[in-house]
Amino acid sequence: MSKKLLLEIVTPDRKVLSQDVEYVGAPGALGEFGVLPNHIPFLSALGIGNLYYKDGGKTHYVFVSGGFAEVGPDKVTILAEAAEKATDIDLERARKAQDRAQQRLARAQDKIDYARAQASLRRSLARLTCRTSGERSGTC
Ligand code: ATP
Repeated sequence: MSKKLLLEIVTPDRKVLSQDVEYVGAPGALGEFGVLPNHIPFLSALGIGNLYYKDGGKTHYVFVSGGFAEVGPDKVTILAEAAEKATDIDLERARKAQDRAQQRLARAQDKIDYARAQASLRRSLARLTCRTSGERSGTC
């Protein structure tokens, strides 16, 4: 029985991570799910939020936004629209995106404007939380 599983995170632009880990927690579209080695295979859509993985007694955080997760017995593949390790998150950019989204929400004219601004706000807040979680866990 394998004690680790390979976590691969890719976006349309780049490979964000490829690492053997002990546990993965991911923001599924229907709620968070957790994966240990030898899990039964399944597919899930991803929401906007923070994936985390445990390795060597440490917890590492990665922001993910949309896409899919494919879980196999010894591998988790994340195909995300956007993803950044906590260390790679530009805090200033996320704060500016948060301000912009809040201003757009305040003056949204229709449902589409509102939904876009809300998604943008959720991405910025998740990025800020991801970075803070990484700093708290001592992994960024
Ligand atoms: P912004 O308005 O700042 O572009 P966004 O939420 O619209 O934010 P996305 O569409 O999610 O941005 O991502 C576009 C690209 O920019 C992706 O490659 C993503 O990894 C990167 N990116 C966005 N925000 C940040 C950030 N705060 N730090 C690092 N990379 C970021």
